[in-house]
Amino acid sequence: MSDQPARTCSDCDGELQAIVVMDVGHQGAVGQLQYYSSGDKRSFWTGRFPTAGTVQAFLCQDCGLISLFGQPKPRVEQEVTEEPEE
Ligand SMILES: [Zn+2]
Repeated sequence: MSDQPARTCSDCDGELQAIVVMDVGHQGAVGQLQYYSSGDKRSFWTGRFPTAGTVQAFLCQDCGLISLFGQPKPRVEQEVTEEPEE
């Protein structure tokens, strides 16, 4: 993900720095913010929302504006491997 084009602030054209907006879950576990389409239903098989994606945040170095961009996950029809909980 290092070949992303540089983004600039929509407000002041300042330089944007990629940041991670934390989502604190069970027992203080920290994860990256995610999103899914309104009305989407959690998959019975995978326990995930088919339209889920991660939220990439950028902080303006000049004015502090945080811009959020959705990064859709590629649709996986059959997901057999589950990431282990840490
Ligand atoms: Zn700005």
